[in-house]
Amino acid sequence: MSKFRIIPSIEQLLQRDTIIKLETNYGHRTVMEALRQETEALRSKLSDESTNLIESEAAARTIERNVESDLERSLAPSLQSVINATGVIVHTNLGRAPLANSAIKRIATVAAGYCNLEYNLASGSRGNRTIHASELLTRLTGAEAAAVVNNNAAALLLILTAIASGREVIISRGELVEIGGGFRIPDVMRQSGALLREVGTTNRTRPEDYAAAINDNTALILRIHPSNFRIEGFTERPSLRSISKIGHDFGIPVVEDLGGGNLYEADSHGTPFTEPTVQQSLEAGVTICCFSGDKLLGGPQAGLIVGREIFVRSISNHPLMRAVRADKLTYAALEATLLEHLSERADETIPVNRMIRTSIEQLRARAKEIVSSVTELSKVEVQLTDGPATIGGGAAPGTTIHSCLLHISLSGLTATELEKRLRESNPPVIGRIDHERLLLDLRTVSPDQDQALTRVLVNL
Ligand SMILES: *Cc1c(COP(=O)(O)O)cnc(C)c1O
Repeated sequence: MSKFRIIPSIEQLLQRDTIIKLETNYGHRTVMEALRQETEALRSKLSDESTNLIESEAAARTIERNVESDLERSLAPSLQSVINATGVIVHTNLGRAPLANSAIKRIATVAAGYCNLEYNLASGSRGNRTIHASELLTRLTGAEAAAVVNNNAAALLLILTAIASGREVIISRGELVEIGGGFRIPDVMRQSGALLREVGTTNRTRPEDYAAAINDNTALILRIHPSNFRIEGFTERPSLRSISKIGHDFGIPVVEDLGGGNLYEADSHGTPFTEPTVQQSLEAGVTICCFSGDKLLGGPQAGLIVGREIFVRSISNHPLMRAVRADKLTYAALEATLLEHLSERADETIPVNRMIRTSIEQLRARAKEIVSSVTELSKVEVQLTDGPATIGGGAAPGTTIHSCLLHISLSGLTATELEKRLRESNPPVIGRIDHERLLLDLRTVSPDQDQALTRVLVNL
């Protein structure tokens, strides 16, 4: 008698409760394919005699279990929520800015139905999506006009393409930088068709250097905010005001890539760093500024372009705009985020603002709660220590914020092994290792994640 006789037929397997449930979740075809694969796998296992399966119910259960775990593993969302305990607030690898509740609500509302994305409700005819968010952006920044694209890299590419294709762009040698993820200013310039005209040196560039480079073929002067590096020592960089004056005198637009999109001056709203604001750049006379929506602004991924109306209009009307435009969900989240800033609620409602401004006392109080629960319920040791959190995401380089850290240890495990265990927990917890110590920074953990974090630590 054939030993393959114990393998149930696909028809029999399809009658089983677990398989019926899997069919509901993943569809008939997907489940059939998995059943065939697992049945085949069992057949080859039986043929090499190494299995002790002798009856058909056990065989069916084996197939069923394997199909279930295969499908659950391979079809689970690849994008997973994690607890960011790195202390890096705008963490590019961890999705940058978590959104404010109002932004999340607006996304849900707009996503659920139709909207006037490109429809003019007053006239009942085709409208233009670039009008959305523009009132809020101009009020917040003091700009004449605004436009939104997919991200800040796209904003810079679009601006250069629309204003400078085939013509010269003057930029200081100290600003020919790589922003991250292979985004290099000289490469973007080449992509846009603009011609790079470098002036000055890596560490020193003077206003006269810009003025001397201007000729009939000059399209614009570009400034890149050093958002992920600092040049220290013997350095010189002209003020934005003096560059704007040169631009103005020669009739050349000045474009500034601000990176972070900071709206708050140092010490206002408890801002613990000095980072140029969008408003300051425009006041200094810059023609066009661009910045990210999901760095210091604390909103969705977007590239925001603000400045003089005639330039914003020609940028928005350029054919490349079609390829880099923002979608309705971005507008929904962005408008809600901007309203939080405008209404001066941002310090409480926008996670990035809140994390930057949370006091060390608040963090210590939360840390003590976690320590007492964890030490009561497990062998994991948690000690409190102080250390630096950072803004990250290419914003306010060199700035650190005093923070409260949990130093985690468990006998027999190295910091690297602990880091791996935390990362493989549910939800994954991402910490950092400093001098062989595994540290978790509560500044980037939202208070409503404290319980989940405690549970992960207890179960280490
Ligand atoms: C981050 C950054 C960019 C890229 O912005 P994305 O929104 O990530 O596309 C461009 N320029 C500067 C100066 C930056 O800091």
